[in-house]
Amino acid sequence: AAVLRQYGHLQRGDRLRAAREQRRLSAYYGLIGERAELDPAGPNGGVLSAAMLERLGTCPLSFFFRYVLELKPPEELVFDPARWLDALHFGRLVHYVLYRFVSKCIAGEAELSPGGRDALLEVVEEELARWRRLIPPPNEAAYVVQGQELRRTARRFLQMQQQWNACQRPVYLETGIGMSSEEFEGNELSSPEPVELADALGRTIRVRGQIDRIDQRHDGSFVIMDYKTGSPSKYEVSKAKPFQQGRLIQHALYLAVVSKRLEQCGRAGGDVSSFLYVFPTSRGQGDWIEFGSDLLEALPRQLVLLRTIMARGTFCPTNTDKDCRYCDYRPICGNLTDYSPAFGKSAASDPGIAAFCEIRGINTANQ
Ligand code: SF4
Repeated sequence: AAVLRQYGHLQRGDRLRAAREQRRLSAYYGLIGERAELDPAGPNGGVLSAAMLERLGTCPLSFFFRYVLELKPPEELVFDPARWLDALHFGRLVHYVLYRFVSKCIAGEAELSPGGRDALLEVVEEELARWRRLIPPPNEAAYVVQGQELRRTARRFLQMQQQWNACQRPVYLETGIGMSSEEFEGNELSSPEPVELADALGRTIRVRGQIDRIDQRHDGSFVIMDYKTGSPSKYEVSKAKPFQQGRLIQHALYLAVVSKRLEQCGRAGGDVSSFLYVFPTSRGQGDWIEFGSDLLEALPRQLVLLRTIMARGTFCPTNTDKDCRYCDYRPICGNLTDYSPAFGKSAASDPGIAAFCEIRGINTANQ
């Protein structure tokens, strides 16, 4: 006790450990209480992205660590002689290649079909050489392996493209909304200002995003495409749960954001008919998953629930440790999910917990 009295930080840590052992939802579990500055619909509310909202819906506590406390895990320098680019950088490389190639197609300098194969592979080689200068590979073998994967991805992309050529053509690439980008040129829909979206209670939140590609169908409607370099499994959702109980919102959010930008730019009449997750890499095997604009009906309610969690300062941990599997905060978080029965009991007195229960589909009746 004398040591704890002497060192305030140890004392606070000890208090936190003791409070967590009580297994009662409290400030020590992320329930920090209402704070005006955290309300995204408030005068000082921040601009939200799909990644932020998906983190919030997956685990509010993880959102709290990342965006409120701004905690970042220390960067680990892991030397892997078998790997050149990590998943993040490889994903960016794929995006650059497709952006540059499809830009050429829109400008009439290449064909968006198997006939454009040489032009696409030329872009691949140029980008590989450029990235090699930016990030030197650990050895030649690692560079060759990822170069081959990029070429396979490019060829697979052209195969996939054939199915879309019959009904649509690309019109806008890498549209930054609420953000400026030095990497991409932008287009008439790009804007440094975020888009304002209303939730089901009429409160407005501001949203930003980087939209990989927007196509126009022959009937005039627009289709949003988002390239993913991972596997499709996370996005294979049932019709009954298109938001994956809070874990997925990018599809609906981008449908709403692009509709709004088209309207603001005087492109009224061109509805946004669907959103496609596109998987051109070996992990995705050329798959794609399409969502219709009917998602927009449920979006305003989802926004109410997510806003309530933030505005009420209810940054509780997720109710299932499946969400913890790849979480950066595991080392500091501890096993918090085994008290989840407490959610139902707390929902009646805490609107933030009630919102999280509704997102997750936790039955709070009779608790
Ligand atoms: S380890 Fe689990 S409970 Fe903790 S922040 Fe991460 S996802 Fe949330």
